[in-house]
Amino acid sequence: MIRNLLALVVVCVCLVRGAGLAAAETPNFVIIYADDLGYGDLGCYGNPTIRTPNLDRMAAEGMRFTQFYSASSVCTPSRAALLTGRLPIRSGMCSDKRRVLFPNSGGGIPASEVTLAEALKEQGYSTGCFGKWHLGHLPQFLPTSNGFDTYFGIPYSNDMDRLNDVGPKGRAAFLDPKVEYWNVPLMQDLEVYERPADQTTITRRYTEHAVDFIKKNKSKPFFVYLPHSLPHVPLFRGKAFENKSARGLYGDVIEEIDWSVGRVLDTLRNEGLAENTCVFFSSDNGPWLIFGEHGGTAGLLKDGKGCTWEGGMREPGIAWWPGKISPGKVSLELASTMDLYTTCISLSGGKIPQDRIVDGVDISPVLFGKGSSPRETMFYYRGTALMAIRHGAWKAHYITQGAYGPDARKREKHDPPLLFNLNHDPSERFNVNSKHPEIIKQIQKIADEHRQQLKAPPSQLEISLKK
Ligand code: MG
Repeated sequence: MIRNLLALVVVCVCLVRGAGLAAAETPNFVIIYADDLGYGDLGCYGNPTIRTPNLDRMAAEGMRFTQFYSASSVCTPSRAALLTGRLPIRSGMCSDKRRVLFPNSGGGIPASEVTLAEALKEQGYSTGCFGKWHLGHLPQFLPTSNGFDTYFGIPYSNDMDRLNDVGPKGRAAFLDPKVEYWNVPLMQDLEVYERPADQTTITRRYTEHAVDFIKKNKSKPFFVYLPHSLPHVPLFRGKAFENKSARGLYGDVIEEIDWSVGRVLDTLRNEGLAENTCVFFSSDNGPWLIFGEHGGTAGLLKDGKGCTWEGGMREPGIAWWPGKISPGKVSLELASTMDLYTTCISLSGGKIPQDRIVDGVDISPVLFGKGSSPRETMFYYRGTALMAIRHGAWKAHYITQGAYGPDARKREKHDPPLLFNLNHDPSERFNVNSKHPEIIKQIQKIADEHRQQLKAPPSQLEISLKK
């Protein structure tokens, strides 16, 4: 009898410890994604006048990447890549005719794609999306049809649905923005919650939704995707941030996003979740330079949003996981938003889809200080055109083109490609192609192999809304 009781106690203890271990091994994930934030827009990336104490602390407590890439220089393809782990050309989420989805688009993220939210749902995660989606605004494309339990946010960019008869014409409206100039809907799941969205309170409200979601779901694993709709122009910020930043309006907007990051990290600390939650911060693409002071800066990197120079696609990348990621690390390793897909699924105990090419690699060895990045190569696409390839320190530009406006009509092919050593020359100033024919040959082989296995489905961005 006593032996049986003892055995029972041992079994119970094992079960309880087993459950505890299992829970401890299933981390939560939070991905905070800014919109059009440049490489040089944060204090911890060298900005002299924008104060970002929360992001600086996140970097000081975690890992700051200096060579972290988005998979595109514009919104829709970049977000598709983050959530599918695949180059946008593989999912049809890019186009040479329309660079992103618009309110009159009829396409969106194909049901056949396995989103990060869907993959984590398989592992029993609760999933919430709070912010700008931009992967299709029809019901079948919205977050709640693509693996998210709940959604609160705008379905496309904050400058779409411009009401042309309200406010000043053209660019002037963007440079002195008022909420009523744009008729952007704010959605709760599949319903319009508010229209036009009050963009002055939007950063705060996304944050509150994310914080509530974390508190409600703290007893099971969760995935929070918090894609802020700012600092994409038109710029808006809450009352508490008005005229606070030495950098002016743009700085106010970034400082509110920084506040939001602080709220999320404080919530994780206060709820005892910090040591079981991996948080990433990045941006979908570089700064929108054509908007002058309303756009950010890529710092020492060349150009910005819309092109395949480094300023268009290299982004701040900060990873935070107390107890797992050693504090104060700066990583020079090559990594991409697509790698977050593969890394999160792997850490959740899930399986990476095997029936398709996934471009993301597992960067957890880098995060945990156990090895180098499996990523050696980055492909720089503009629409369906492979413009440039980075391999190791070397970047070869086969085609260069200006980002927007008259510059965008200047498309130049380079044979041999322009070649830069990004470790020596991050600003892409010194073309060294005549000195390194062997590197050009090596990168050409990578391009040929990449093209051979590439299957590009029809573009979702070219489908119009049926009237
Ligand atoms: Mg963007």
